[in-house]
Amino acid sequence: MVSRTRKRIGIIGGGLGGLASACTLAARGHDVTLFDKNDWVGGKAAVLEGKGFRFDMGPTILTLPSVLRRIFAEAGHKLEDRLNLVRLDPQWRCFYQDGTFLDLMENVQTMVEKIRGMDPKSAEGYQKFQDLSKRLNRISQKFFFWKSIGSLWDMFSFKDSMNLSMLGDVMSMRPVSTVAATVRKYVPDERVAQMLDHFTQYVGSSPYGSPAVLCGIAHMQTDEGVWYPMGGTREVPKALAKLAGELGVTIHCGVEVTRIEQDGAGRASGVVESGGTKHAFDIVVSNSDTVRTHRELLAAGRAAERFEGRRGYEPACSGVVLYLGLNKRYDHIAHHDFVFSRDAEEEFDAIYNRGEPAPDPTCYVCAPAVTDPSVAPPGGEALYVLVHTPYLRPHHNWNEMLPKYREVILNKLETTGGMKGIRDRIVFEGSLTPQGIHDRYRVLNGAIYGLASHGRLFGAFKPANRSPDVPGLYLAGGSAHPGPGMPMALMSGWIAGDTVDQDVNGPMPVQA
Ligand SMILES: Cc1cc2nc3c(=O)[nH]c(=O)nc-3n(C[C@H](O)[C@H](O)[C@H](O)COP(=O)(O)OP(=O)(O)OC[C@H]3O[C@@H](n4cnc5c(N)ncnc54)[C@H](O)[C@@H]3O)c2cc1C
Repeated sequence: MVSRTRKRIGIIGGGLGGLASACTLAARGHDVTLFDKNDWVGGKAAVLEGKGFRFDMGPTILTLPSVLRRIFAEAGHKLEDRLNLVRLDPQWRCFYQDGTFLDLMENVQTMVEKIRGMDPKSAEGYQKFQDLSKRLNRISQKFFFWKSIGSLWDMFSFKDSMNLSMLGDVMSMRPVSTVAATVRKYVPDERVAQMLDHFTQYVGSSPYGSPAVLCGIAHMQTDEGVWYPMGGTREVPKALAKLAGELGVTIHCGVEVTRIEQDGAGRASGVVESGGTKHAFDIVVSNSDTVRTHRELLAAGRAAERFEGRRGYEPACSGVVLYLGLNKRYDHIAHHDFVFSRDAEEEFDAIYNRGEPAPDPTCYVCAPAVTDPSVAPPGGEALYVLVHTPYLRPHHNWNEMLPKYREVILNKLETTGGMKGIRDRIVFEGSLTPQGIHDRYRVLNGAIYGLASHGRLFGAFKPANRSPDVPGLYLAGGSAHPGPGMPMALMSGWIAGDTVDQDVNGPMPVQA
């Protein structure tokens, strides 16, 4: 047995990325302490309860369970022993302005046949789009995932001479195209196109500004499915926190970190709590927003300047969420639904270019009672409605904007979503606005999904997990590589943990 060095590691933030780092590092034998300013861990994966209703406040669509499986496997546990995951198919039900609806099914061939009834050309195009998506996903698996990457140069080893197969991989990333253009090249039917556009909403970015390589997200969902953890998405951070506890991680909730200490050589050497208490560490992992980590937690200086200068990082979109406790379910909706806007271009232009809420938005609706009746009193529904909005601008006052926008949303659910009389069914109501997201989770401008993925060539790249600016500092979470969303934030945490451990102890021995 090769001897391993045990390091004292401090983690700022107990979101999914922070928890995944904590479990990975503790499973590899390190001494881990985690701090979160909130009195719960899980960050955005929080819960709201009232009048017998239980709502997941943040993420509701769980994809790529293989990422969670790998994190539990670090500690020798099986995912299935820790979480009761139920597969959902249809994955989404899509409602359109013209009164039609379309179920997104996991099986590509089934989906091709469904689309054939709407538009035969788009049916063939859907198959071809999925083939492209599979190829793009294979490239991501090979070059992008599971390692600390901050740029195209990190991704492909240009040191090794570029061979034909690598050139083919680069070209199939369609480096000069966007998601929206690629989708429409394959799929002429605007309804099917609108559905495929929405995979970029998993990363809070406009399909008109996102690089075509993000078309690879579609395959992740057809390949591994969409899952619901019984008890709610909140069960994911609960299971990780339990594992972290078993592995000896010390978790301090209600503790805000206000500074990362650096030694004379600029190396991260500890953290300081808001009350002034200092904790010395050999290594610091920040699960706080990466831009705010550099602006607010590190001393102003060259490291922070280098980070900001590397690229103009733009926040991803924000959102408004209505948590509606209904006394009666709607039978025509599925677990996950999209009630689409009348015009995709108008909607994305408002949110991502003009910085204003869309006049006729797409509403994502989650109706989990059909899968998990424990979320609501008998016959009721814990209806969750998320509408993407621009990230916070100085003139946005959501205290004033919310009441009017609530009406826009409820009208949209009634008309395009067929949820007639919804106001009469509401017996409990809560909400979350961009300002609330900003304050609760300490993010950049209320962004739900970290940093936007805009830019045809470099849009997919986020700050690398090993800080190139501050030795001893590692970054985990939705605003670090490989990006936002539950599986990616979890993977980010694993990569940060694995990179720390490899920097300390070298590569993990290959299991026999
Ligand atoms: C409304 C909403 C809906 C979403 N829907 C989905 C979905 O359906 N599917 C999906 O995959 N993803 C979804 N997401 C995105 C997903 O939730 C996030 O990408 C993911 O949870 C982010 O994890 P994270 O590790 O970046 O941490 P975060 O959840 O951002 O947590 C970071 C934590 O760090 C703490 N922190 C920050 N700074 C400090 C500090 N200085 N000191 C102490 N603590 C600090 C914060 O309190 C917070 O708890 C949604 C998000 C929201 C908000």
